[in-house]
Amino acid sequence: KKPPSRKGSMADVPQDLITQINRLEELFTVPAKKLKAISDHFVDELTKGLTVEGGSIPMNPTWCMAFPDGNETGTFLALDMGGTNLRVCEITLLEEKGEFDIIQSKYKMPEELKTGTSEELWGYIADCLQQFIEYHHQEEELDELPLGFTFSYPATQDYIDHGVLQRWTKGFDIEGVEGNDVVPPFEAALAERGVPIRLTALVNDTTGTLIASAYTDTEMKIGCIFGTGCNAAYMENVGSIPKLAHMNLDPELPMAINCEWGAFDNEHQILPRTTYDIIIDKESPRPGQQSFEKMIAGLYLGEIFRLVLVDLHESLECKIFEGQDLGKLKKPYSLDAGFLSAVEEDPFENLSETEDMFRNKLGIVCNKPELELIRRLAELIGTRAARLSACGVAAICKKKGWDKAHVGADGSVFNKYPHFKQRGAQALKEILDWPAHKGKGKNDPVEILPAEDGSGVGAALIAALTLKRVQQGQN
Ligand code: BGC
Ligand code: MG
Repeated sequence: KKPPSRKGSMADVPQDLITQINRLEELFTVPAKKLKAISDHFVDELTKGLTVEGGSIPMNPTWCMAFPDGNETGTFLALDMGGTNLRVCEITLLEEKGEFDIIQSKYKMPEELKTGTSEELWGYIADCLQQFIEYHHQEEELDELPLGFTFSYPATQDYIDHGVLQRWTKGFDIEGVEGNDVVPPFEAALAERGVPIRLTALVNDTTGTLIASAYTDTEMKIGCIFGTGCNAAYMENVGSIPKLAHMNLDPELPMAINCEWGAFDNEHQILPRTTYDIIIDKESPRPGQQSFEKMIAGLYLGEIFRLVLVDLHESLECKIFEGQDLGKLKKPYSLDAGFLSAVEEDPFENLSETEDMFRNKLGIVCNKPELELIRRLAELIGTRAARLSACGVAAICKKKGWDKAHVGADGSVFNKYPHFKQRGAQALKEILDWPAHKGKGKNDPVEILPAEDGSGVGAALIAALTLKRVQQGQN
């Protein structure tokens, strides 16, 4: 058996915990060979998703059909409906190339909305937009403002200003929306309130990220979100999208594809799922969906961690938290990715921060060996997430034959989770077999970089590009 990774520190850890740590290492470690196999399979699935028959990855054409050239102008609203916040921005793209002004307001997304009714959802969003307009444009006679609406869920689009929700993800479960076009009820709620806004483009957050990042960096080829959910978009050419063949478009035209790669491996052919991943799926509002996302996205990381700890406590082979009340830890989704981040950020010498969090938040008093197991478990879950995420990025690059690319990334996990970036870069290097001199992360051939504001500037740019396309009389 492999010795635990940190020499010396495990001297006083009882044998049953060492056995468990070894078992967890085995379960959660994804070696380079497996990463390669996953990303090869991923390439096939991306390709399949573009065919008429389709596959498990939706590969949704977004009707965003150009990169910005920096000369876009005009004033646009952008709305981002996220899991915790609703953000409204007004963005003015200026005459100076690549410059813009932005004003914004944030509103809370009440938790009840996520499982409420569709009228409540659209009504609440329209109220926020109305407040925004009243606050920033009191008394003014307004022409209708064009809006880019970042709707970060899988949607089928036949045009850019509509979208049929395929299914809710990220724990949303609002009745009567799936299978329907989300734009008419949204516009009806605006009209009811007399809000002078016209929806110009419905945008996925990944597409917004791609376009916003490309606005300032012409090497940008992929937009990714590693946050509550996980997904990517990239620019395909129409000729490589068989499911659009019936439209007789110019095969050379670019078309941004929202991959919806969270659905990768829904048929369970390749991902190394553990019993914990299986439980997460079963207990979720949409079992069988978003298999990949459920192993890597922020919404689930704390839950995987929690399930393992409860399992170890209950297992006869190992004694952790013996005789303690696990009432709080037994509550589903009681730990979020922020909790896991804090465990990973704790200086290893004494893990006193972790000890405090377990005592104060969960009412569990941990001994030293338990703290070491907790830390190792957090590292394993965080590392697996970063390494599996890299498989998706590598797959798009392989599919497109890009041996160099910039990838714009956003989301809470990418921005805040410790070591996520380095672990992802390391995995990319293992999958894509870069020569040994690379590897410090900087100047790797495929680099994942912090993105520009996709759901603000990106959505505004896509609205601007759409209006330009309409004016030019293209479809
Ligand atoms: C959604 C995607 C979104 C991603 C990141 C996923 O759950 O299905 O549309 O891009 O989360 O927000
Ligand atoms: Mg978001």
